[in-house]
Amino acid sequence: HAKESGGNQYQVFSEHMNVRAMERMTLESELRVALEEDQLVLHYQPQLGLTDHTLSGMEALVRWNHPRLGLLLPARFIALAEDSGLICALGLKVMEMAVAQIAAWRALGLSVPRVAVNVSPMQLRSELVDEIAQILAQHDVPAACLEVELTESALTADGPAVNGLLQALRDMGVSIAIDDFGVGYSSLTLLRRLPISALKIDRSFVSELPANRQDIAIVEAILNMAHCIGLRTVAEGIEHTEQNVTLGVLGCQEGQGYLFCKPRNAEDTTAWLTTTTAPKLARAPV
Ligand code: C2E
Ligand code: MG
Ligand code: MG
Ligand code: MG
Repeated sequence: HAKESGGNQYQVFSEHMNVRAMERMTLESELRVALEEDQLVLHYQPQLGLTDHTLSGMEALVRWNHPRLGLLLPARFIALAEDSGLICALGLKVMEMAVAQIAAWRALGLSVPRVAVNVSPMQLRSELVDEIAQILAQHDVPAACLEVELTESALTADGPAVNGLLQALRDMGVSIAIDDFGVGYSSLTLLRRLPISALKIDRSFVSELPANRQDIAIVEAILNMAHCIGLRTVAEGIEHTEQNVTLGVLGCQEGQGYLFCKPRNAEDTTAWLTTTTAPKLARAPV
């Protein structure tokens, strides 16, 4: 039998088509609806200075408030969005929501130095720069409040084009972080060639600190190199105090993780910002 799969296209299903593929198709057409009906929401996770625990930024993390399945994490739908070509629309929506949130916090007088937004490699088209500029202008938000997080795979994709695009973002004042640093195909040439502002050390190098001597050596080397070429450093996935302390001693500047705060919705994040002042944070990370 045939089933509508969005637009006026029809997709023929074989009896043998497996359940997973069916689910995927259903989810894809539901994602189209989700984009129109504002079912996507952003959660925010604070990034803190590792020695003083002052707020240095927030990472925006998308969730899908699915009418049938509840709140879905990106692992359930980002790859699907990439495969189906919906990622650009999704990414634009995310950017729009994040910048609107920055404007809302600014209007409330809440100080969030910057918000980091994850950007898929497939969003790195020439239009992206204008799209971001327009969203920032619409909400009267300075570009310096925005950071774009890209994985290493995004940066190796298409050398010259990506380089120009990132340079345009930097010229505008947007900062650029390499996400999950160390697990992709990182080439040191990339770091020299591209206008990067920060490295986010992947959680896998953090999780076994401080017991794993090898990981200590790797993290130390990453930090030394990053600081020598003027990059900010952020450690991901800090869950334990010992990890925080070790990273602090090694000189990592910032970190995020469940130890400090889990990602929370906008409302709870605003409440957290309202009740959590920097001095309070310095005494006791929440
Ligand atoms: P990421 O950018 O590396 O984000 C960090 C992930 O680690 C988030 O998972 C976060 O909730 C989780 N995390 C934070 N602290 C801890 C911790 O202490 N321990 C552990 N175990 N995990 C921690 P989440 O929100 O499920 O996002 C997963 C990935 O999905 C992100 O990894 C990012 O690559 C992607 N993603 C999220 N939002 C977006 C988006 O708006 N657009 C795109 N293209 N990708 C996104
Ligand atoms: Mg990220
Ligand atoms: Mg990451
Ligand atoms: Mg990660």
